[in-house]
Amino acid sequence: MNIKAERRSGSSSDQRLDRLAEIAVRVGLGLAPGQELVMTAPIEALPLARLVAEHAYKAGASLVTTLFADDAATLMRFRHASRESFEHAPAWLFEGMAAAFRSGAARLAIVGEDPALLAGQDAEKVATANRARSKAYLPALELIAAFATNWTIVAAATPAWARTVFPQASEDEAVARLWELIFSASRVDGPDPIAAWAAHNQALQARTHLLNERRFAALRFRGPGTDLQVGLAEGHEWAGGSTTAKNGIVCNANIPTEEVFTTPHKDRVEGVVTSTKPLSYQGTLIEEISVRFAAGAIVEANARTGEEVLRKVLETDEGARRLGEVALVPYSSPISRSGLLFYSTLFDENAASHIALGQSYSKCIRGGDAMSPDELAGHGANRSLIHIDWMIGSAEIDLDGLGRDGRSEPLMKKGEWVV
Ligand code: ZN
Ligand code: ZN
Repeated sequence: MNIKAERRSGSSSDQRLDRLAEIAVRVGLGLAPGQELVMTAPIEALPLARLVAEHAYKAGASLVTTLFADDAATLMRFRHASRESFEHAPAWLFEGMAAAFRSGAARLAIVGEDPALLAGQDAEKVATANRARSKAYLPALELIAAFATNWTIVAAATPAWARTVFPQASEDEAVARLWELIFSASRVDGPDPIAAWAAHNQALQARTHLLNERRFAALRFRGPGTDLQVGLAEGHEWAGGSTTAKNGIVCNANIPTEEVFTTPHKDRVEGVVTSTKPLSYQGTLIEEISVRFAAGAIVEANARTGEEVLRKVLETDEGARRLGEVALVPYSSPISRSGLLFYSTLFDENAASHIALGQSYSKCIRGGDAMSPDELAGHGANRSLIHIDWMIGSAEIDLDGLGRDGRSEPLMKKGEWVV
């Protein structure tokens, strides 16, 4: 008997939405009394954003500022704004956010935008807008990537996203089903979500301890279309679950999270790799990515859809064709078991092992928080305007850890941990 399918949650979806907001504030942010909060959200996520604000104030927030994004207004820009105007991004806004983080504000992002919003738009305009935005966002991104403050990302089931995940269902049904998945993946459907998160963080940390003890020089992924050796940065440190930000606050940056991850060496990645899930990047679906790395850099790149956007992304800067993250997720992770494609990095990256192009996390280098950008680069940590995760794991991928002496140890077989 399949107990899981029979199980019915005792709590209503209103209660679970409230618990998701509470988990976002207490576990995701670990918001401190007196701390300011800057929140971004799609306009359709207003009910969750309000509950987050309520829980933040209950936790002692001094001020909650919410910035809503509107997909429909974004589309109007693509329809009516001049081509030259796509060079423009609101640098003032991102500088303001960076100033808020520097002065101690926490950051919460609710995601749920339409994964294919810009699919039909001019690729040149999309690429120009992405590039301008990435560049303008850099001051804020650097602080986030360095965990200068506590931050978290949670998801809300918006109609456009839900329709993409469940194309056969009616809109109401799709939204309801997506919420169910968000609640269970975010661990708010059990009797004690706070305790569930404590146990989950402990399990992820046991995995990072084991990998940190091994001190592998490289990882090797093998499967259909993939034979990739990922050299790891000098002094790399595995992370997973909760993190202590530089302000001393313990936060969970992603809700949900299933990954353990570290920093690859930017010059030591070799071989070919094929994506195992489509990548939804700023409204463009990039499917069946296949790239070849030599001396750390992508030297050949193809994709079945979105290839032009992918190529533009790789041209963003020198670091855009190199890796900033490698992350391991077993094929049996709860999100993977749903068998669904979410078209959202927050969910899909927690269903499969993945790599990220671009910016690395200084947290994932031992002592990296105190290092200058040049010192980090000297350890092999990559630097870029972008950080884009894409999935390379599946039930057909084997993974070995390679020691400094060249000895290899099986870590995953057919997508599952064997250590
Ligand atoms: Zn990741
Ligand atoms: Zn990432």
